[in-house]
Amino acid sequence: MEIAQQINLTLEHASGGILAAIVVAKNHRHRVRQTGDGFGEAEIAITEITHKQHRIGSEAFQQGRIGITPVTVQIPCNGKPKPGARGCQRVMPRLWPILPQMVQMTVDSTPSTASTVSPTPVDLPAAIDALRREKNAVILAHYYQEPEVQDIADFIGDSLELSRKAADTDADVIVFCGVHFMAETAKILSPQKTVLLPDLEAGCSLADDCPADAFAAFRAEHPDHIVVSYINCSAAVKAQSDLICTSSNAVDMVRQLPAERPILFAPDRNLGRWVQDQSGRELTLWPGRCIVHENFSEEALLKLQLQHPDAEVIAHPECIQPLLDLADFIGSTSKLLNYAETSSSNTFIVLTEPGILHQMQRRLPHKQFLDVPGTDGCSCNACPYMRLNTLEKLWSCLVSGEPAIKMDENIRQKALKPITAMLEMSL
Ligand code: SF4
Repeated sequence: MEIAQQINLTLEHASGGILAAIVVAKNHRHRVRQTGDGFGEAEIAITEITHKQHRIGSEAFQQGRIGITPVTVQIPCNGKPKPGARGCQRVMPRLWPILPQMVQMTVDSTPSTASTVSPTPVDLPAAIDALRREKNAVILAHYYQEPEVQDIADFIGDSLELSRKAADTDADVIVFCGVHFMAETAKILSPQKTVLLPDLEAGCSLADDCPADAFAAFRAEHPDHIVVSYINCSAAVKAQSDLICTSSNAVDMVRQLPAERPILFAPDRNLGRWVQDQSGRELTLWPGRCIVHENFSEEALLKLQLQHPDAEVIAHPECIQPLLDLADFIGSTSKLLNYAETSSSNTFIVLTEPGILHQMQRRLPHKQFLDVPGTDGCSCNACPYMRLNTLEKLWSCLVSGEPAIKMDENIRQKALKPITAMLEMSL
């Protein structure tokens, strides 16, 4: 990983008391002006601060309880993003853990709110640990989370594993370090529990691509079909489904359905095509897609294969068909991890969100894992939604009990049926 040349970071308060940070970076530029070689001067305004953090910061600043100290830091970066590329967003979450370094506690005259000013980065894991015990909370993290979030979680897994954990836990609070549909699934399974999502903006392009009303119209056009929905969809779409699946069990789920019934599959068209091939069942597909898995560059993959002729290519089925055609093994995130463990190969080119590389490298330090650049030339295919969760936001939601997932009970009960069917069928 390259280290960006020096990044000068200062923090100042903007109008309305909103805290904002300005970054002047050498190779990460504000709405980046690419100069051809990927270098140049620019500024990045930090605006991805949650409403709650705005409020906490604003109150503390207005009450004179915090002061601002400009500091200089270095931020790891492995991309040269083009204008508007997601690579820039990868920088944003990385700023969060260091923001407290710049915020000086000057006066602590209001104890009731002073506790909401975050501890130093060094204290964050300890503070999160103490809060987790105090509140009887369990922290679940998806493999696509930042490494420091994975490292503090009680359990790390893919969607199916996390769903099972959410259903089984006896904790009072579930902190779901993943995206919104995952936290919703936990709430559907455990309505009596408080389910927190560190950043409510952590959505998913697949869920966004499948609005409930449009899906209802699509279903109405296919009244005789069994509706199988990938878990990456909203609760309102789950409520219209007969069966939920994950990428781990989708083929198995479809194979178990009555042969005489036609099947409608939503929302991921790439996963749907792969399931169709594997199961031999014809599926009517909803045209959704994952912006991360559709972004890998075939050309870059071929170059990597030339550089590492002994490497095996392992791919998530949300990737497009030309990339899947080049893969030695296709499977869900957990299956990719298990395959890397059991394979005799020592080098793997990994076609899924690079957060999984952290677990792969931890479990298999003697093996090499390579991620694949995106089609826009940026070498960071990090999911911009997943990476919105940070240690800072995790700590903050444990302190305040917000943001919590809320759900209409009628929708929840309807959405529970196809999830329960999946859990029973995938035993
Ligand atoms: S990686 Fe793709 S499918 Fe997963 S949360 Fe991000 S956008 Fe959604």
